[in-house]
Amino acid sequence: MSDAIVILGAGQAGVQLADSLRREKCTRPIVLLSDETDFPYQRPPLSKTYLLGSFAEERLPLRGPDFYDGHGIDLRLGVAAESIDRDTRTVRLSTGEDLAYGTLVLATGTRVRDLPIPGIGGPRVHALRSLADSRKIRAALEGARHVAVIGGGFIGLETASAAAKMGKQVTVVEMLDRLMRRAVGPRISSFFHELHAANGVEIRYGAEVRSIGEAGTITLGNGDLLDSDLVILGAGVVPNCELATEAGLACNNGIDTDEYGRTADPDIFAIGDCAHHLSAFARARIRLESIQNAADQARALAKTLAGTPTAYVEVPWFWSDQYDVKLQMAGLSDGADQQVERGDPASGSFSVFYFREGRVIAADSVRAPADHMAMRRILAKPDPALTAEEAADTGFDLKQRM
Ligand SMILES: Cc1cc2nc3c(=O)[nH]c(=O)nc-3n(C[C@H](O)[C@H](O)[C@H](O)COP(=O)(O)OP(=O)(O)OC[C@H]3O[C@@H](n4cnc5c(N)ncnc54)[C@H](O)[C@@H]3O)c2cc1C
Repeated sequence: MSDAIVILGAGQAGVQLADSLRREKCTRPIVLLSDETDFPYQRPPLSKTYLLGSFAEERLPLRGPDFYDGHGIDLRLGVAAESIDRDTRTVRLSTGEDLAYGTLVLATGTRVRDLPIPGIGGPRVHALRSLADSRKIRAALEGARHVAVIGGGFIGLETASAAAKMGKQVTVVEMLDRLMRRAVGPRISSFFHELHAANGVEIRYGAEVRSIGEAGTITLGNGDLLDSDLVILGAGVVPNCELATEAGLACNNGIDTDEYGRTADPDIFAIGDCAHHLSAFARARIRLESIQNAADQARALAKTLAGTPTAYVEVPWFWSDQYDVKLQMAGLSDGADQQVERGDPASGSFSVFYFREGRVIAADSVRAPADHMAMRRILAKPDPALTAEEAADTGFDLKQRM
C-alpha cells in the first residue's frame, strides 16, 4: 500500500501544500501533478503587471527551480489526472500510469466558464486563466485597436485597465447593473465605474453578447454593434470537480469538504478554488477564489496530514489592482443589511464597512491599507465589537477593536 501524498494540481494551493508539508516535517513521498507544462506560477500578475510588460516572466514561478528536487517533491508537469479509483486507491494519469496514493488531494482549481455564444471560439477571442492565455493576450494586445471585455468582474476590469493604460479603446460588456456586483457593495462599484470612465473605458450595463464575428466584432442583444478587434472573456469560472464527481464524491459548485478539507472519503481532500468547504468564518459551506484561501487551506491541511488536525478558520481576504488603485476586501459582505463609509470617496481613499444584524462582517478598502489590515484582525476575533458609528468615524482608532 502506498504512503504517498498525491496532489492533483500545482497551482497556488497544490504548491503551498507540498511546501508546507515539508515545513511540517512530513517525510511521506509527495507527488505533485500539473496538467500545465509551465513551471508552477502565480496567477495574479497575469491580468495586471504581466500584461503591461512591467512584471517579467522570470518572476512568475511560485518557487525557485531547485525547490522541488531539493525538498523531495516529485513534480510532474504536463501530466493530467484522468480518473480516480477509490477501491484500488490509484489515479489514472494521462501517461497511462496508475499512480497509487495513500492520501489524495484535489487542488484542481477552476476553468473559464463556457459561454454559449456563436463565434466564441473565434481567433480574436481569448479567455484569461493561465500563463499561456496571458501570453497570447499580451501578443494580441500589441496589434489591437478596440478591446471588448466580456464581464465586469475583477479579471475583466483588471484586463480593461491594462488595455486602457496601453492606449487601447476599451469597452466592457456587463450583464448586470453594476461592476463586481457579486463581490462588493454599490459604493465601491460606482467608484470603480468613475475610475474606468475617467480612463476612457466605456461600460455597457445590462448588455448581453449575441454573437462575435471572425474579426472580433460583437453584436449585442439589443442589436448594437461593437467594432472590437480583440475580445477578452472575463465572465467567470467553474470549479474543476469532474474527477471527484466521477469518483462518487459530492460536489455542489465545488467539491464538498468539511472544515479540515476532507471529502466523504477520509483519504481524499480538496483545497483552493475547487473546494466547497465548511467555513468556520461563514458558518456555511462556501467556495472562494483567492490566493489567501488557497494558501491558508493548504497550510491548515499540511498540519492535519502531518499529524495535528487543524481546521481552516482564516478570515477571507482578497485584493484587486486597477490603474493605480488597490482595492482590498476583508470578510464576506454577502447578506449585509447595513453599509457605512469611512473616509471620503472623493479623496480617492475610503472604506465601506458592512454589517448584518448589527455585527460587522466585512470591509472593502480603496487605497486604505490600514483599514484593511485592522479589519482582518477585528474579524479574526470570535465576537467582533466594532459598531457602525465607530467604523464611520475617522477619528475613531480601529486598533481599539483589534
Ligand atoms: C488572471 C488572474 C488574476 C487573479 N488575481 C487575483 C488577485 O489579485 N488576488 C487574489 O487573491 N486572487 C487572484 N486570482 C485568483 C487566484 O489566482 C486563485 O484563487 C488561485 O490561483 C487558486 O489556486 P488553486 O491552486 O486553487 O487553483 P489554480 O491556481 O487554478 O491551480 C489549479 C491547477 O490544477 C491544474 N489541474 C486541473 N485539473 C487537473 C488534472 N486533472 N490533473 C492535473 N492538473 C490539473 C490546473 O491546470 C491548474 O494548474 C487571480 C486569478 C487569475 C486567473
